[in-house]
Amino acid sequence: MGFSIERVYFWVLRQLSSDVQPTDSGSTDDIRRRLLFHNVLGRGSFGTVLLAEDPSTCKHFAAKIISKRALLAAGDELVMVERRVFQLASGSPFLVQGQFAFQTKLFLILGLEYVSGGDLYNYLLMKGQLDIPTARFYAAELVCGIQFLHTKGIIHRDLKPENILIAETGHIKITDFGLSIDNIHGEQTATGYFGTVGYMAPEVRRREEYNAGVDWFSFGVILQEMVTDECAYHQTIDDISSGIKNIVKQLLQKDPARRLGVNGDIRKHKFFRHIDWVQVEALKVTPPYTPEPSNPNHRPRPFHVDKLEAAEVRAPISAQDQAMFEGFSFDNLETRG
Ligand code: AMP
Repeated sequence: MGFSIERVYFWVLRQLSSDVQPTDSGSTDDIRRRLLFHNVLGRGSFGTVLLAEDPSTCKHFAAKIISKRALLAAGDELVMVERRVFQLASGSPFLVQGQFAFQTKLFLILGLEYVSGGDLYNYLLMKGQLDIPTARFYAAELVCGIQFLHTKGIIHRDLKPENILIAETGHIKITDFGLSIDNIHGEQTATGYFGTVGYMAPEVRRREEYNAGVDWFSFGVILQEMVTDECAYHQTIDDISSGIKNIVKQLLQKDPARRLGVNGDIRKHKFFRHIDWVQVEALKVTPPYTPEPSNPNHRPRPFHVDKLEAAEVRAPISAQDQAMFEGFSFDNLETRG
């Protein structure tokens, strides 16, 4: 990577410093005034994720700060889908919850529940390979999260270990709906070359129309990765015993119509035969690993939005372009207690 976390942090700080008044604050006015931004947590395609805090409740958030200019340059309206998905995520504990969203003239700020245990990618790096019961636990929770999305007409389109976060409790949470599409119900299909190479279903790579089966393909790759050690030279799924070989094979079916998840009830596959789905859905299955409680690393120079809104904007975004972000704001904080 050609940037350090500090440089990204100060870039965000500098960019935000040139911002002006919000375009739709509405009921999010309180949180936007209170919010204190700390250090960088990570970086996505269109912006940076900062640790933020509401000092009145000491509650922490992951604040995704997305550049409107970058979205406009890419002609990308997917952020509005992302916002919609985060808002309805409250229906499933296996999805990262959207807590609030507001905008300034230059940025969209999406406040997400802060998930402090890292992601599956780093966990797999640390462990090399998971034992079958551990992989089965994560797989079962993922099935619940993925099926929730699909029943709501949402296809994630970018499932991969980096987008699976591990909460302090050890349960998983799917995140990053930045490439998701919504309103895909029944026989409807989607188009578009989205996702991450390596996890992308063949029909996406072939630029054909597709359905929710693309997520099941990605899930199959993730499941395979969980149980095979990439560092173990020449190890393949053939070396792994138990029903996992069969489920992975069915998930990686090239023909989406025959792929497990779309075709057949994945919950009934023999790999999951000892899973009590009611217990899984209720978060009653004890996680195989609980991350160390993390102490958010407070930076010496936290900042508020109001400090940043005073400066002038040299090249403002036109009212016509701003219209793309109309209705972005929401506030789920009060309903969450
Ligand atoms: P994204 O733009 O969603 O891909 O996020 C970029 C990075 O920010 C991720 O890889 C995580 O390291 C971090 N991140 C995103 N969302 C959260 C969250 N809710 N809690 C903690 N870290 C997060």
